Amino acid sequence: MGVVGVDLGKGYSLGGEGKQLAHGRDATLPVVVAPVHPWLGDVLLDWYGAQARDLPWRRTRDPYRILVSEIMLQQTQASRAAVAFAEFTSRFPTVRTLAGASVAEVLTAWRGLGYNRRAVGLHKAARSIVEEHAGVVPQNLTALRALPGVGDYTARAVLAFAYGQDVGPVDTNVARVLSRAVAGRALNRREAQSLADALVPEGQGHAWSSALMDLGARHCTARRPACDSCPVLRTCAWQRSGGEDPAGATAVRARSPSPFAGSDRYHRGRLVDALRAGPVAAADLATAARVTDRVKAAALAQRLVADGLAEWDAGSLRLPT
Ligand code: SF4
Repeated sequence: MGVVGVDLGKGYSLGGEGKQLAHGRDATLPVVVAPVHPWLGDVLLDWYGAQARDLPWRRTRDPYRILVSEIMLQQTQASRAAVAFAEFTSRFPTVRTLAGASVAEVLTAWRGLGYNRRAVGLHKAARSIVEEHAGVVPQNLTALRALPGVGDYTARAVLAFAYGQDVGPVDTNVARVLSRAVAGRALNRREAQSLADALVPEGQGHAWSSALMDLGARHCTARRPACDSCPVLRTCAWQRSGGEDPAGATAVRARSPSPFAGSDRYHRGRLVDALRAGPVAAADLATAARVTDRVKAAALAQRLVADGLAEWDAGSLRLPT
């Protein structure tokens, strides 16, 4: 299957079968044939130009800061991540300062964000960037994906938002918008990725993907899309064809949040919070983790150690030094 030559208007165009894939684009992915409305590119980019959300990571092209923001955004809402991003990058302004910090310092700075394994992965990634890439965040997909905690989405986000490459990171917002506004049908993960990569107007990687994300956050929401006020209503494939919501069967969807209170994640979080204040003696683990069962507390502690979030020292558990 090849890309259908598509004119997105105003100089934004997609080539046909012979299109050169941009640097960093994964040529092994299948390419989806999708009838793209000729106005979509202009309309979406013009709307974004006038309405872009002011987010702190959009004011920088520093690859390290973009990487930090994307790791934070994996499981944290943008409004919370914005506050944490400013504090974290103030504490660790460069990849070298992060790589040179202890795990304990990084976990302490991660306070309030949850999903603490992300902090450990980010710290490992920073050390890998310093040790294996001379302190420069890699500029290609393969090397980025090899970093701890960096998957397909985060790697493409760094390429698009830091290096301005014409690749399309696919998060749940983007997948939903592509299935509704562009394809008018459900997309599997590979289709969504290949379509996202193919659609990026030349030289517009940053603005285009930011626009898709803003559209998904502001208008094309999961439960109640605000189609009446949507800037691409007139070109939207789903609105033109009707039928079932194609996003419902699209593969890249947010997982329903599992109950937090009382979950293992909750008790692990309490234990890490206690460790941020200092070492916890083995006898006090249950109290720190807010469980009544000492065996459960010991198991939680062991898992923290296995995940690199804690270590034993003279009979006490502490954050890794
Ligand atoms: S018209 Fe509705 S379904 Fe189509 S992109 Fe806009 S909000 Fe989404």
